[in-house]
Amino acid sequence: MAAEELRSNDLAVGSTDSLEDLATPFQVADTAVRGRVVRLAGAIDRILSAHAFPDGVSELVGEAAVFVAAMGSSLKFDGKLILQINGDGPARMVLADLTADGALRATAGVGGDEIGVRRGLSELIGEGRMMLTVDQGTDMERYQGVTQLEGADLATAAEFYFRQSEQIPTVARFAVGRLSRRGAADVWRAGGIIAQFVPSEGGVRDRGIATLQSDAEREIWARAEAFVRSTQSDELIDPDLSVNDLLFRLFHEDGVRVFDPKPIKASCSCNAGKIEAVLKRYSRSELQEMTEADGSISVVCEFCRTPYRFDADGREIGQ
Ligand SMILES: [Zn+2]
Repeated sequence: MAAEELRSNDLAVGSTDSLEDLATPFQVADTAVRGRVVRLAGAIDRILSAHAFPDGVSELVGEAAVFVAAMGSSLKFDGKLILQINGDGPARMVLADLTADGALRATAGVGGDEIGVRRGLSELIGEGRMMLTVDQGTDMERYQGVTQLEGADLATAAEFYFRQSEQIPTVARFAVGRLSRRGAADVWRAGGIIAQFVPSEGGVRDRGIATLQSDAEREIWARAEAFVRSTQSDELIDPDLSVNDLLFRLFHEDGVRVFDPKPIKASCSCNAGKIEAVLKRYSRSELQEMTEADGSISVVCEFCRTPYRFDADGREIGQ
């Protein structure tokens, strides 16, 4: 094992970093308890490094990314899952989305210098709401759920969302951290686990299921909930703990079935053509106002920070 250095609250990454960008579905024995474990390594490091937000905001954006990565496996062919959090705090907005083919992106809208060392939902977002949208592509219905933002962290808010909006018993734990490597730059890692009681094969999109009808079902759910709540943050992002070992650690008494993981990648759908189309909607004088001294208009993608340049008529100038 490579030399490693353990800093307070941080894990060290040795040469054995087994974390990959994956969402792994599981089912507790033969019960209706189904869930996903998410591990984000290079993908979340790319997303968070592009922004360089204050740490508290990076953690929140990382949690949002874990959340959509965990829930996105219910997406059909060309669908997209969009999480949007809005509030009246210094971080007024957090956005994350995932496409059916695993393209993940996430960002936040932050105020000036007020963030400082603030952390957590209430300090950063304040009073707010959470909206989850499932866009199933052109011909399909768009599904949208909205709840108040409840809880100290995003995992608790997610549990509240599913209970309120879809009547699905849900337990969630998310973790985001910076891992230090001797002689190399720190890297971001994120992970999470979500388990739900979903009696039908239809999955989490089936609304209004009358769940937990019997004592046996309540017992099954209570056990699963307690096991997931026992997960420690470092277990979720520990590069030396595989997803299978984590699930076995949690559910070995009841047995757990692990399904094929779904790869996740940091990928943004922005391109110059899309931005040109937006610029076309502006009037000539509005475009003039955006034009800089050298005669160009600069636009930076809010998700991936890719810079684009256009001329005063809104046509792309090659890099
Ligand atoms: Zn982009």
